[in-house]
Amino acid sequence: MPSREYNAVVSEPVFVTSETMILRITTDGWDLPDYKPGQFAILGLPGSAPRAELSDSEVGDEVPDPDKFIARAYSIASSSRHKDYLEFYITLVRSGSLTPRLFALKRGDKIHLGSKMSGMFTLNDIPEESNVILMGTGTGVAPYISMIRTYLAPGLSKKFSVVHGARHSWDLGYRSELTTTMHMVEGFYYLPIISRPTEEIIPWGGETGYVQNTWERGLIAEEWGFQPTPENSHIFLCGNPGMVEDTLSVLEKDGFKEHSKKDPGQVHLERYW
Ligand SMILES: Cc1cc2nc3c(=O)[nH]c(=O)nc-3n(C[C@H](O)[C@H](O)[C@H](O)COP(=O)(O)OP(=O)(O)OC[C@H]3O[C@@H](n4cnc5c(N)ncnc54)[C@H](O)[C@@H]3O)c2cc1C
Repeated sequence: MPSREYNAVVSEPVFVTSETMILRITTDGWDLPDYKPGQFAILGLPGSAPRAELSDSEVGDEVPDPDKFIARAYSIASSSRHKDYLEFYITLVRSGSLTPRLFALKRGDKIHLGSKMSGMFTLNDIPEESNVILMGTGTGVAPYISMIRTYLAPGLSKKFSVVHGARHSWDLGYRSELTTTMHMVEGFYYLPIISRPTEEIIPWGGETGYVQNTWERGLIAEEWGFQPTPENSHIFLCGNPGMVEDTLSVLEKDGFKEHSKKDPGQVHLERYW
């Protein structure tokens, strides 16, 4: 039996922009296993699958074996309570191997979905009473959407914040859902920040700069009314590895420490490449 095969179906590709999409996948004849919010799944398509028009062409050595599946990890954005589909938030890497093929998918097309969800980037190991700050760039907000959809409900007894950075306001996927959640759930705070405000069509009245700047400017502390510290908060960083490294060094200056199973700390990392 091949290690990868078509075993799932695209139910809903929704383009947020021409280079970002929300993709829903349903299994074909098997049940989704249990998974924890924050974990990722493997998606795959064979080299013979067509590439989206917007992507670069493959030449020479780049042309893949038509029969071999190209597989990559994607954070799950849907609630782990949903058992009928998985949702993903994906950026097109124009020169990439898999994303140009994902961006050519239509409803009903077949795809490979790994049958096991993995990853340690979850809220499982953090103390019940700890406040939570979820910081991400671009599609790095995906695991946070799963956490929020699964765990957040009115009556929250601690602070829970999402800081989402992107170049433009239109690149801030899930913005309306996060804004609505902020209005419905006391204690939940959503802080979008964009790095190219001069390119906005309608002037941007929100924060500008990079995710790590929100910490340096004390914006979470200002909103919460108290300083997040290693004693009262856990912080998650996801997406662009440059942002993850820069934010980690800023946090380390304030006493936070990178978390690992062997050496527990308060900063949890997921680098997308
Ligand atoms: C645990 C985990 C979870 C992930 N979850 C997501 C997710 O939810 N959504 C998502 O879009 N990606 C996610 N990724 C990245 C994803 O696995 C692929 O690397 C990405 O989609 C590119 O695949 P590709 O085959 O098109 O590019 P490849 O041919 O593999 O080229 C990879 C190169 O493209 C660049 N690159 C990779 N990812 C990005 C990106 N997001 N933005 C800009 N440049 C990039 C880097 O330079 C990288 O070296 C995740 C990665 C990991 C490890």
